[in-house]
Amino acid sequence: RDPSIKKPSWLRQRAPHGDKFAKLQQSLSELKLNTVCVEAQCPNIGECWNGGGGAGGEGDGIATATIMLLGDTCTRGCRFCAVKTSRNPSPPDPMEPENTARAIVSWGVDYIVLTSVDRDDLPDGGSGHFAKTVITMKKLKPDILVECLTSDFRGDVDLVSSLVHSGLDVFAHNIETVKRLQRIVRDPRAGYEQSLSVLKHAKNCKEGMITKSSIMLGLGESDDEVKETMNDLRSTGVDILTLGQYLQPTPLYLTVKEYVTPEKFEFWKNYGESLGFSYVASGPLVRSSYRAGELFVQNLVR
Ligand code: SF4
Ligand code: SF4
Repeated sequence: RDPSIKKPSWLRQRAPHGDKFAKLQQSLSELKLNTVCVEAQCPNIGECWNGGGGAGGEGDGIATATIMLLGDTCTRGCRFCAVKTSRNPSPPDPMEPENTARAIVSWGVDYIVLTSVDRDDLPDGGSGHFAKTVITMKKLKPDILVECLTSDFRGDVDLVSSLVHSGLDVFAHNIETVKRLQRIVRDPRAGYEQSLSVLKHAKNCKEGMITKSSIMLGLGESDDEVKETMNDLRSTGVDILTLGQYLQPTPLYLTVKEYVTPEKFEFWKNYGESLGFSYVASGPLVRSSYRAGELFVQNLVR
């Protein structure tokens, strides 16, 4: 971060505890599951794993966790993301979809977010791997809710379609930042129009499909640029939006230009709701999958 900008108190992380959290943590250690929640030391783990109710309280919502598929090495190199990068990561484990699906189902979480690194080295960008995992999970536990947070599949809408038709409940793809900052923040193979086109196609290729996207704030964007991005996402039919503070993973990555206040995040939540998003999660520590299951059920399953 820019050394002249001090990290504010509202970004202090809360230590997780609570019954559901403890139960999930215990069974996780027996299964070979890689959660982003643990690996990325996500500050929301108490709230997500407890199904809401705060970092330590037992929520009455449903518990959410995020699983990473397709290995730990990405073919892209975005300047905000600390994931390892290589042109040729190891080939995916063909048994991963089956094994992961079984482990998730026996783990006992209600809402699962599947995500992955970008795999530009694979002919299908990994879309088949996602789809097989969803199909197997739904076979084993039909009431589990599944969100896939995917890459842009290089803009290949056929790959988007085949994943959307696998039976997932929410298709998520993050636009990450405003139009002007795309080239600075994201790998050059990603782009604003390409991400909008992926989201639009996911929304339109299956009736009733729910789509979701996310914007990081604090990278130097103006209010007008945030408004433009929110309007563009809404115009493609995006249902769910999350906004959170960008935090610099290590000094090698982009610096934080601004710590956006909790009040300003509240402003963006209200602005988003006025545009007609089904719901907007907006706050300094909000991440793409923040309380995803709980908020999904509260706002979209009636
Ligand atoms: Fe896990 Fe996502 Fe919740 Fe963080 S925000 S704890 S990564 S589900
Ligand atoms: Fe990180 Fe995704 Fe960019 Fe890869 S494509 S570097 S995983 S943000």
